[in-house]
Amino acid sequence: MNIDGKLAAQQLREQLAIEVKDLEAKANICPKLVVILVGDDPASQVYVKNKVKQTQEIGMVSNEIRLAEDTSQEVLLGHLYKLNEDTSVHGILVQLPLPKHIDESAIISAISPNKDVDGFHALNSGRLFNGEPGALVPCTPQGCVMLAKQHLGNDLSGMHAVVIGRSNIVGKPVAMLLLQENCTVTITHSRTKNLPEVCQQADILIAAVGIAEFVKAHWVKEGATVIDVGINRITTDDGKTKLVGDVDYNDVVDKCGAITPVPGGVGPMTIACLLKNTITAAKQSVS
Ligand code: NAD
Repeated sequence: MNIDGKLAAQQLREQLAIEVKDLEAKANICPKLVVILVGDDPASQVYVKNKVKQTQEIGMVSNEIRLAEDTSQEVLLGHLYKLNEDTSVHGILVQLPLPKHIDESAIISAISPNKDVDGFHALNSGRLFNGEPGALVPCTPQGCVMLAKQHLGNDLSGMHAVVIGRSNIVGKPVAMLLLQENCTVTITHSRTKNLPEVCQQADILIAAVGIAEFVKAHWVKEGATVIDVGINRITTDDGKTKLVGDVDYNDVVDKCGAITPVPGGVGPMTIACLLKNTITAAKQSVS
């Protein structure tokens, strides 16, 4: 069975559109997101375009700042300092990856934690780690947990969640969120021994590896919920390209209880959660 991320994202956006109207009526603020794109990476351009479009569709304000590939770190930091001070801006997102001459961690640290709608600032990671309310939580991990709950219901307590991947963007934060949901969490990675055997124990299996069709049916417990975060472009036998996940969908689909397809699973939830974070940041700016 497929978990429909497109539908879930659409439902979340509809709910967020109501929250935006409410916020305008009650607090007279309209959440505003500014997205900065450095360089002209085609994939990043598509992501940014979608983010801006979906922000506007639910009644929020969105600005895009496009900077040349050779923009210096100082110039980018200058933009961030201005946006940090601008009270009409509630969310700031710098599209990653950045050109090699720019230090990504210095840029992430320079974004005000209150406007860090990607949730990558160390203060927000720390808040998530400590289970503190008010953290701006990375978008993709939030989407993963929402999709797992869509199939399993709101109570995930006691379930064994196995996460493949330990990145700061997906693996670690999704593990923290699942721990908050009272799952028993195992984080696995490139040095994990007997990975298929560890994965076989999972009631919830989250794959965030970046290797096309890595997870096979014999890794998956009968009836498990599989959340496939991977986005990998492969070339098929007829020379065309297509997107596949980190899970071998055709192999796994009949063994698992439910699976997020790629495309149409976790991907659409990521932008919807970015909108959610911007609204949260706007609400927190007046509370
Ligand atoms: P990353 O490269 O930062 O991390 C990959 C992780 O996989 C690492 O922690 C590594 O230890 C682990 N790994 C690598 N080889 C392994 C192996 N052989 N066995 C077990 N673990 C192994 O990647 P990321 O940023 O976390 O992204 C992971 C995937 O998710 C990518 O395909 C990426 O495109 C995708 N992604 C999708 C979205 C979305 O919106 N759907 C968002 C972010 C990332």
